[in-house]
Amino acid sequence: LATDDLRPTVPSEIPQEMFGFSALPEYRQVRQMADQLGELGLPNPYFQVLDGPTSATASVEGKEVINFAGYNYLGLAEHAEVKQAAIEAIHKQGTSTSGSRLISGEREIHRELESELAKFMRVESSMLMSGGHAANETTIGHLLRTGDLILHDSMAHSSIITGANLSGARRRPYPHNDWRELDEILHDIRKDYRRVLIVAEGVYGMEGDMCPLPELVEIRNRHKTWLMVNEAHSLGTIGKTGRGVHEHFGIDPSEIDIWIGTLSKALGSSGGFVAGSHDLIDYLKHTASGFVYSAGLSPSSTAAALAALKLIEANPEWIAKLHQNSELVRDLAKKAGLNIGGSELSPVVPIIVGDSMMTMILAQKLLADGVNARPLTYPAVEESAARLRLFVNAHHTKDQIRQTINKLAALWSKLQRENHASAG
Ligand code: PMP
Repeated sequence: LATDDLRPTVPSEIPQEMFGFSALPEYRQVRQMADQLGELGLPNPYFQVLDGPTSATASVEGKEVINFAGYNYLGLAEHAEVKQAAIEAIHKQGTSTSGSRLISGEREIHRELESELAKFMRVESSMLMSGGHAANETTIGHLLRTGDLILHDSMAHSSIITGANLSGARRRPYPHNDWRELDEILHDIRKDYRRVLIVAEGVYGMEGDMCPLPELVEIRNRHKTWLMVNEAHSLGTIGKTGRGVHEHFGIDPSEIDIWIGTLSKALGSSGGFVAGSHDLIDYLKHTASGFVYSAGLSPSSTAAALAALKLIEANPEWIAKLHQNSELVRDLAKKAGLNIGGSELSPVVPIIVGDSMMTMILAQKLLADGVNARPLTYPAVEESAARLRLFVNAHHTKDQIRQTINKLAALWSKLQRENHASAG
């Protein structure tokens, strides 16, 4: 390269962190946590390798354990019919759609799944996306812009916040599930914005509680806003037949403008979707960047989700079993004096520890004792809200649940005693 003609180099006072990664403060913080764990002789709890499908049990680094760490709530990711559907789709259509739906990636099976999802959600239409994350980010980022307002629950998933930040609209969180505060905010500032989007979740993935859907719908109607509900953890788990929070509350789903879902949890596949009115979906399908400029969902993921959806419709007793198991986990945990936060009705049960390092130690010790439950630590949650999170599965046996809570309670009180002793 001839450098003689180039202008002088940038001044040397520009610090490393402005153009490299090793000095990036955010990255150094990540390394610091890993180093601390190393000093305590504990392995890094992230990117743990699992050897096969995960359901009520899993194989972690070659060891069979009771598993509370996957979203495969109904065990469908390893159901014979779901796997067979994926295999047949690969045989017939290959492993990729090799193009955007708009151009060359459209397949009949996409339309079939979209129509089944819309029927299941009792709305007019739906569209598949490459993931639930993409569905949230793309839809919010696309529908709102400068001059608009996004009011989201303070516990909303990261993809909702990313989408809101992308949109250019003003983003303002409201305190978790506090619809009165949401109403106050709208009363004060609704008139200052063009479009307003309220974003809530069917079941909150960190806390395991539900949004107050009837109140949110009333607020949406009175303040003339859009309402979006992310059903990632509630689809296939909430309501008698797994249709989610609208079924639980007996609300007409067309009163919610935008439904978001994922195929990666109860549906045992990969991918996401948006559901709602024909006009919403038609608009997004022709214009939303994350759909238009992204390859169509793979035939195998689409076929797996379609098979799973049909199985859920045919077997509502699985959902009843999931509810029973989730209640048993909550019941035993409470009796053992563990703090389960606001968890209710859902298969997500946090065990609040309140300290990131203690949470990681608890997760590691529990794993060594034969139970896999993953830590949620700062910055995913506030430091004082650091927790273990249990994802309950319809296939857990009562004995597996009892063993887990007994082990957890014993380890937790031992850790607390050691902590007090070292502090004293
Ligand atoms: N929303 C919530 C509440 C989630 O928990 C997740 C997954 N962790 C997503 C959206 C993203 O879904 P996906 O994995 O399909 O991208």
